[in-house]
Amino acid sequence: MKITFFSAKPYDKEFFVKGNTDFGFEFTFFETHLGPHVVQAVENTDAICVFVNDKVNQQVIEVLAKKGVKVIALRCAGFNNVDLEAAKAHNIHVCRVPAYSPEAVAEHALAMILTLNRKTHKAYNRVREQNFSLQGLLGFTMKGKTVGVIGTGHIGAEFCKIMLGMGCHVIAYDVQVNTELVNKGIQYFPLEEVLKQSDIVSLHCPLMPQTHHLINATTLSTMKKGAMLINTSRGGLIDTHAVIESLKEQHLGYLGIDVYEQEEKIFFRDLSENIIADDTLQLLMSFPNVLVTAHQAFFTREALEQITEVTLNNVYQLMHHKNIDTTGALLV
Ligand code: NAD
Repeated sequence: MKITFFSAKPYDKEFFVKGNTDFGFEFTFFETHLGPHVVQAVENTDAICVFVNDKVNQQVIEVLAKKGVKVIALRCAGFNNVDLEAAKAHNIHVCRVPAYSPEAVAEHALAMILTLNRKTHKAYNRVREQNFSLQGLLGFTMKGKTVGVIGTGHIGAEFCKIMLGMGCHVIAYDVQVNTELVNKGIQYFPLEEVLKQSDIVSLHCPLMPQTHHLINATTLSTMKKGAMLINTSRGGLIDTHAVIESLKEQHLGYLGIDVYEQEEKIFFRDLSENIIADDTLQLLMSFPNVLVTAHQAFFTREALEQITEVTLNNVYQLMHHKNIDTTGALLV
Protein backbone atom coordinates (compact mmCIF):
# COMPACT_ATOMS: atom_id res chain seq x y z
CA MET A 1 0.00 0.00 0.00
CA LYS A 2 1.26 3.43 -0.94
CA ILE A 3 0.95 6.79 0.74
CA THR A 4 1.96 10.10 -0.88
CA PHE A 5 2.79 12.92 1.54
CA PHE A 6 2.48 16.64 0.86
CA SER A 7 4.08 19.50 2.82
CA ALA A 8 6.58 16.91 4.08
CA LYS A 9 9.40 18.38 6.16
CA PRO A 10 12.52 16.51 7.27
CA TYR A 11 10.96 15.89 10.71
CA ASP A 12 7.81 14.40 9.08
CA LYS A 13 9.99 12.00 7.07
CA GLU A 14 12.00 11.06 10.14
CA PHE A 15 8.98 10.25 12.32
CA PHE A 16 6.92 8.54 9.59
CA VAL A 17 9.80 6.37 8.38
CA LYS A 18 10.51 5.33 11.97
CA GLY A 19 6.81 4.67 12.69
CA ASN A 20 6.37 2.63 9.49
CA THR A 21 8.21 -0.46 10.76
CA ASP A 22 4.91 -1.87 12.09
CA PHE A 23 2.98 -1.13 8.88
CA GLY A 24 5.28 -1.54 5.87
CA PHE A 25 3.73 1.18 3.69
CA GLU A 26 5.54 2.54 0.63
CA PHE A 27 6.04 6.31 0.97
CA THR A 28 6.49 9.16 -1.53
CA PHE A 29 7.29 12.55 0.01
CA PHE A 30 6.62 15.90 -1.65
CA GLU A 31 7.78 19.02 0.15
CA THR A 32 5.33 21.22 -1.76
CA HIS A 33 1.79 22.01 -0.60
CA LEU A 34 -1.01 20.08 -2.23
CA GLY A 35 -3.26 22.22 -4.40
CA PRO A 36 -4.68 22.33 -7.91
CA HIS A 37 -1.19 23.28 -9.23
CA VAL A 38 0.47 19.98 -8.21
CA VAL A 39 -2.30 17.44 -7.88
CA GLN A 40 -1.49 15.99 -11.31
CA ALA A 41 1.83 14.80 -9.82
CA VAL A 42 -0.08 12.25 -7.72
CA GLU A 43 0.19 8.84 -9.24
CA ASN A 44 -0.06 5.21 -8.27
CA THR A 45 -1.01 5.79 -4.64
CA ASP A 46 -3.74 4.51 -2.30
CA ALA A 47 -3.71 7.41 0.11
CA ILE A 48 -2.48 10.96 0.35
CA CYS A 49 -1.33 12.43 3.62
CA VAL A 50 -1.76 16.18 4.10
CA PHE A 51 -1.23 18.87 6.72
CA VAL A 52 -2.87 22.14 7.79
CA ASN A 53 -2.10 24.31 4.77
CA ASP A 54 -2.62 21.80 1.97
CA LYS A 55 -5.60 22.84 -0.13
CA VAL A 56 -7.85 19.84 -0.67
CA ASN A 57 -10.76 21.49 -2.47
CA GLN A 58 -13.28 20.09 -4.93
CA GLN A 59 -10.96 20.55 -7.92
CA VAL A 60 -8.17 18.61 -6.16
CA ILE A 61 -10.52 15.87 -4.97
CA GLU A 62 -11.89 15.32 -8.49
CA VAL A 63 -8.35 14.66 -9.76
CA LEU A 64 -7.49 12.45 -6.76
CA ALA A 65 -10.63 10.37 -7.41
CA LYS A 66 -9.67 9.90 -11.07
CA LYS A 67 -6.22 8.76 -9.94
CA GLY A 68 -7.73 6.10 -7.68
CA VAL A 69 -6.93 7.66 -4.29
CA LYS A 70 -9.07 6.01 -1.61
CA VAL A 71 -8.02 7.84 1.55
CA ILE A 72 -7.14 11.44 2.42
CA ALA A 73 -5.31 11.25 5.75
CA LEU A 74 -4.89 14.52 7.63
CA ARG A 75 -1.92 14.40 9.98
CA CYS A 76 -3.54 17.09 12.15
CA ALA A 77 -6.79 17.68 14.06
CA GLY A 78 -8.33 20.61 12.12
CA PHE A 79 -9.94 19.82 8.75
CA ASN A 80 -11.15 23.23 7.50
CA ASN A 81 -8.87 22.84 4.44
CA VAL A 82 -10.67 19.74 3.06
CA ASP A 83 -13.94 19.78 1.13
CA LEU A 84 -15.66 16.91 2.94
CA GLU A 85 -18.75 17.01 0.72
CA ALA A 86 -16.62 16.58 -2.41
CA ALA A 87 -14.74 13.68 -0.80
CA LYS A 88 -18.02 12.01 0.12
CA ALA A 89 -19.36 12.47 -3.40
CA HIS A 90 -16.26 10.70 -4.77
CA ASN A 91 -16.24 7.89 -2.17
CA ILE A 92 -12.93 8.97 -0.70
CA HIS A 93 -12.46 8.49 3.03
CA VAL A 94 -11.11 11.45 5.02
CA CYS A 95 -9.51 10.81 8.39
CA ARG A 96 -7.59 12.93 10.88
CA VAL A 97 -5.77 12.76 14.19
CA PRO A 98 -8.48 13.95 16.56
CA ALA A 99 -6.42 14.45 19.69
CA TYR A 100 -2.67 14.21 19.65
CA SER A 101 -1.00 15.54 22.71
CA PRO A 102 -3.51 18.32 23.41
CA GLU A 103 -1.15 19.23 26.24
CA ALA A 104 1.45 20.31 23.65
CA VAL A 105 -0.82 23.03 22.22
CA ALA A 106 -2.13 24.08 25.64
CA GLU A 107 1.44 24.38 26.94
CA HIS A 108 2.43 26.52 23.95
CA ALA A 109 -0.50 28.85 24.71
CA LEU A 110 0.95 29.16 28.22
CA ALA A 111 4.42 29.83 26.79
CA MET A 112 2.96 32.66 24.67
CA ILE A 113 1.15 34.17 27.65
CA LEU A 114 4.25 34.13 29.86
CA THR A 115 6.48 35.48 27.11
CA LEU A 116 4.14 38.41 26.38
CA ASN A 117 3.59 39.04 30.07
CA ARG A 118 7.12 38.69 31.48
CA LYS A 119 8.93 39.65 28.22
CA THR A 120 11.49 36.89 28.51
CA HIS A 121 12.28 37.20 24.78
CA LYS A 122 13.38 40.80 25.34
CA ALA A 123 15.20 40.00 28.58
CA TYR A 124 17.18 37.25 26.81
CA ASN A 125 18.45 39.67 24.17
CA ARG A 126 19.12 42.45 26.65
CA VAL A 127 21.26 40.36 28.97
CA ARG A 128 23.29 39.02 26.05
CA GLU A 129 24.14 42.64 25.25
CA GLN A 130 25.07 43.29 28.88
CA ASN A 131 21.99 45.44 29.38
CA PHE A 132 20.78 44.47 32.83
CA SER A 133 18.14 47.18 33.14
CA LEU A 134 14.57 46.16 34.04
CA GLN A 135 12.99 49.24 32.48
CA GLY A 136 10.16 48.15 30.15
CA LEU A 137 10.04 44.55 31.40
CA LEU A 138 7.25 45.03 33.95
CA GLY A 139 4.73 42.17 33.90
CA PHE A 140 1.72 41.10 35.93
CA THR A 141 1.12 38.24 38.39
CA MET A 142 -1.02 35.51 36.81
CA LYS A 143 -2.62 34.39 40.07
CA GLY A 144 -6.11 35.82 40.46
CA LYS A 145 -6.44 36.97 36.83
CA THR A 146 -9.56 35.98 34.89
CA VAL A 147 -8.81 33.76 31.90
CA GLY A 148 -11.51 33.21 29.26
CA VAL A 149 -11.30 30.01 27.22
CA ILE A 150 -13.22 29.84 23.94
CA GLY A 151 -13.70 26.17 23.04
CA THR A 152 -13.19 23.60 25.79
CA GLY A 153 -12.56 20.43 23.76
CA HIS A 154 -9.34 18.42 24.07
CA ILE A 155 -6.93 21.37 23.96
CA GLY A 156 -9.15 23.95 25.66
CA ALA A 157 -9.76 21.56 28.58
CA GLU A 158 -6.00 21.02 29.09
CA PHE A 159 -5.47 24.77 28.91
CA CYS A 160 -8.20 25.35 31.54
CA LYS A 161 -6.44 22.91 33.90
CA ILE A 162 -3.08 24.66 33.44
CA MET A 163 -4.66 28.04 34.16
CA LEU A 164 -6.43 26.67 37.26
CA GLY A 165 -3.05 25.37 38.40
CA MET A 166 -1.67 28.91 38.14
CA GLY A 167 -4.38 30.20 40.45
CA CYS A 168 -6.38 31.95 37.74
CA HIS A 169 -10.14 32.39 37.71
CA VAL A 170 -11.13 30.41 34.61
CA ILE A 171 -14.36 31.02 32.67
CA ALA A 172 -15.38 29.54 29.35
CA TYR A 173 -17.59 29.68 26.28
CA ASP A 174 -18.42 26.64 24.17
CA VAL A 175 -21.47 25.36 22.33
CA GLN A 176 -21.11 22.23 24.50
CA VAL A 177 -20.49 22.31 28.24
CA ASN A 178 -17.67 20.07 29.52
CA THR A 179 -19.01 18.72 32.83
CA GLU A 180 -15.56 17.59 33.99
CA LEU A 181 -14.47 21.24 33.85
CA VAL A 182 -17.64 22.45 35.57
CA ASN A 183 -16.82 20.03 38.40
CA LYS A 184 -13.40 21.66 38.63
CA GLY A 185 -15.09 25.03 39.17
CA ILE A 186 -15.03 26.46 35.65
CA GLN A 187 -18.07 28.57 34.83
CA TYR A 188 -19.57 28.83 31.35
CA PHE A 189 -20.95 32.15 30.09
CA PRO A 190 -22.10 33.52 26.72
CA LEU A 191 -19.20 34.62 24.48
CA GLU A 192 -19.75 38.33 25.09
CA GLU A 193 -19.67 37.88 28.86
CA VAL A 194 -16.43 35.83 28.69
CA LEU A 195 -14.79 38.52 26.55
CA LYS A 196 -16.02 41.27 28.89
CA GLN A 197 -14.71 39.65 32.08
CA SER A 198 -11.37 38.22 30.93
CA ASP A 199 -7.86 39.59 31.39
CA ILE A 200 -6.63 36.89 29.01
CA VAL A 201 -8.67 35.25 26.23
CA SER A 202 -7.42 32.06 24.58
CA LEU A 203 -9.06 30.59 21.47
CA HIS A 204 -9.40 26.80 21.21
CA CYS A 205 -12.44 26.27 18.97
CA PRO A 206 -12.25 24.99 15.39
CA LEU A 207 -12.49 27.23 12.33
CA MET A 208 -15.92 26.82 10.74
CA PRO A 209 -18.34 29.25 9.06
CA GLN A 210 -19.86 29.95 12.54
CA THR A 211 -16.48 30.80 14.09
CA HIS A 212 -14.89 32.67 11.15
CA HIS A 213 -13.79 36.11 12.46
CA LEU A 214 -15.21 35.32 15.89
CA ILE A 215 -12.83 38.03 17.06
CA ASN A 216 -13.77 41.13 15.07
CA ALA A 217 -14.18 44.89 15.65
CA THR A 218 -17.42 44.36 17.61
CA THR A 219 -16.24 41.51 19.83
CA LEU A 220 -12.88 43.24 20.39
CA SER A 221 -14.68 46.33 21.65
CA THR A 222 -16.38 44.20 24.36
CA MET A 223 -12.99 43.00 25.66
CA LYS A 224 -11.34 44.64 28.67
CA LYS A 225 -8.93 47.45 27.82
CA GLY A 226 -5.40 46.05 28.04
CA ALA A 227 -6.50 42.40 27.78
CA MET A 228 -4.37 39.70 26.15
CA LEU A 229 -5.60 37.63 23.19
CA ILE A 230 -4.01 34.27 22.37
CA ASN A 231 -4.79 32.24 19.25
CA THR A 232 -3.25 28.80 18.83
CA SER A 233 -6.25 27.45 16.93
CA ARG A 234 -6.72 28.74 13.36
CA GLY A 235 -5.91 32.14 11.86
CA GLY A 236 -9.40 32.65 10.43
CA LEU A 237 -10.89 32.94 13.92
CA ILE A 238 -9.48 36.46 14.05
CA ASP A 239 -10.14 39.45 11.79
CA THR A 240 -6.50 40.52 11.65
CA HIS A 241 -7.22 44.06 10.46
CA ALA A 242 -9.65 44.64 13.33
CA VAL A 243 -7.03 43.33 15.77
CA ILE A 244 -4.42 45.72 14.36
CA GLU A 245 -6.81 48.66 14.79
CA SER A 246 -7.51 47.60 18.38
CA LEU A 247 -3.76 47.34 19.10
CA LYS A 248 -3.18 50.78 17.54
CA GLU A 249 -5.95 52.28 19.69
CA GLN A 250 -4.25 50.62 22.68
CA HIS A 251 -7.47 48.81 23.53
CA LEU A 252 -6.12 45.28 23.03
CA GLY A 253 -3.09 45.07 25.32
CA TYR A 254 -1.24 42.03 23.94
CA LEU A 255 -1.61 39.59 21.06
CA GLY A 256 -0.04 36.12 20.80
CA ILE A 257 -0.70 34.18 17.61
CA ASP A 258 0.63 30.80 16.54
CA VAL A 259 -1.68 30.82 13.52
CA TYR A 260 -2.36 33.52 10.94
CA GLU A 261 -5.10 33.82 8.37
CA GLN A 262 -2.63 34.19 5.48
CA GLU A 263 -0.03 31.77 6.89
CA GLU A 264 -0.27 29.36 3.96
CA LYS A 265 2.43 31.04 1.84
CA ILE A 266 4.67 31.94 4.77
CA PHE A 267 4.70 29.51 7.69
CA PHE A 268 6.80 26.33 7.76
CA ARG A 269 9.45 27.90 5.45
CA ASP A 270 12.77 29.66 5.92
CA LEU A 271 12.19 33.06 4.27
CA SER A 272 15.08 34.78 6.02
CA GLU A 273 16.66 35.78 2.68
CA ASN A 274 13.36 36.92 1.14
CA ILE A 275 11.32 40.12 1.11
CA ILE A 276 7.98 39.31 2.70
CA ALA A 277 5.21 40.98 0.75
CA ASP A 278 2.59 40.50 3.46
CA ASP A 279 2.33 44.03 4.90
CA THR A 280 -0.23 42.95 7.50
CA LEU A 281 2.07 40.38 9.07
CA GLN A 282 5.02 42.80 8.89
CA LEU A 283 2.98 45.47 10.68
CA LEU A 284 1.85 43.00 13.34
CA MET A 285 5.43 41.89 13.95
CA SER A 286 6.50 45.52 14.43
CA PHE A 287 4.35 45.92 17.57
CA PRO A 288 6.26 45.36 20.82
CA ASN A 289 3.23 43.70 22.45
CA VAL A 290 2.69 41.12 19.69
CA LEU A 291 4.25 37.66 19.61
CA VAL A 292 4.03 35.54 16.47
CA THR A 293 5.11 31.91 16.31
CA ALA A 294 4.83 29.92 13.08
CA HIS A 295 2.24 27.22 13.87
CA GLN A 296 4.52 25.36 16.24
CA ALA A 297 2.12 24.73 19.14
CA PHE A 298 1.78 21.04 18.21
CA PHE A 299 5.51 20.60 17.74
CA THR A 300 6.71 18.25 20.47
CA ARG A 301 8.35 14.85 20.15
CA GLU A 302 5.41 13.19 21.89
CA ALA A 303 2.88 14.83 19.58
CA LEU A 304 4.78 13.82 16.43
CA GLU A 305 4.96 10.23 17.65
CA GLN A 306 1.20 10.18 18.25
CA ILE A 307 0.44 11.88 14.92
CA THR A 308 2.53 9.28 13.10
CA GLU A 309 1.02 6.29 14.85
CA VAL A 310 -2.61 7.44 14.55
CA THR A 311 -2.24 8.55 10.90
CA LEU A 312 -0.67 5.28 9.75
CA ASN A 313 -3.15 3.25 11.77
CA ASN A 314 -6.08 5.24 10.28
CA VAL A 315 -4.90 4.53 6.73
CA TYR A 316 -4.18 0.87 7.50
CA GLN A 317 -7.61 0.30 9.07
CA LEU A 318 -9.47 2.13 6.30
CA MET A 319 -7.60 0.23 3.58
CA HIS A 320 -8.64 -3.00 5.34
CA HIS A 321 -12.27 -1.79 5.60
CA LYS A 322 -12.14 -1.65 9.36
CA ASN A 323 -14.24 0.80 11.34
CA ILE A 324 -12.44 3.82 12.80
CA ASP A 325 -15.67 5.74 13.23
CA THR A 326 -15.65 5.35 17.01
CA THR A 327 -12.29 7.08 17.46
CA GLY A 328 -13.42 10.47 16.12
CA ALA A 329 -10.81 10.10 13.36
CA LEU A 330 -13.18 9.35 10.48
CA LEU A 331 -14.66 12.46 8.88
CA VAL A 332 -16.01 10.82 5.69
P1 NAD B 1 -11.89 19.61 19.84
O1 NAD B 1 -12.78 19.23 18.72
O2 NAD B 1 -11.54 18.62 20.88
O3 NAD B 1 -12.52 20.88 20.60
C1 NAD B 1 -13.11 21.96 19.94
C2 NAD B 1 -14.13 22.58 20.88
O4 NAD B 1 -14.68 23.73 20.23
C3 NAD B 1 -15.31 21.65 21.19
O5 NAD B 1 -15.54 21.58 22.59
C4 NAD B 1 -16.47 22.28 20.47
O6 NAD B 1 -17.73 22.08 21.11
C5 NAD B 1 -16.06 23.74 20.49
N1 NAD B 1 -16.80 24.54 19.52
C6 NAD B 1 -17.35 24.15 18.35
N2 NAD B 1 -18.00 25.18 17.79
C7 NAD B 1 -17.84 26.23 18.62
C8 NAD B 1 -18.30 27.56 18.57
N3 NAD B 1 -19.05 28.02 17.56
N4 NAD B 1 -17.96 28.38 19.59
C9 NAD B 1 -17.22 27.92 20.63
N5 NAD B 1 -16.78 26.66 20.72
C10 NAD B 1 -17.09 25.82 19.72
O7 NAD B 1 -10.60 20.21 19.16
P2 NAD B 1 -9.15 20.37 19.81
O8 NAD B 1 -8.38 19.11 19.61
O9 NAD B 1 -9.28 20.93 21.16
O10 NAD B 1 -8.51 21.45 18.81
C11 NAD B 1 -9.02 22.77 18.74
C12 NAD B 1 -8.43 23.45 17.53
O11 NAD B 1 -7.02 23.65 17.78
C13 NAD B 1 -8.47 22.63 16.24
O12 NAD B 1 -9.67 22.86 15.54
C14 NAD B 1 -7.29 23.14 15.47
O13 NAD B 1 -7.73 24.13 14.57
C15 NAD B 1 -6.38 23.77 16.52
N6 NAD B 1 -5.06 23.12 16.62
C16 NAD B 1 -3.95 23.89 16.48
C17 NAD B 1 -2.69 23.32 16.60
C18 NAD B 1 -1.42 24.14 16.48
O14 NAD B 1 -0.33 23.57 16.32
N7 NAD B 1 -1.48 25.46 16.57
C19 NAD B 1 -2.57 21.94 16.83
C20 NAD B 1 -3.72 21.19 16.98
C21 NAD B 1 -4.98 21.79 16.87
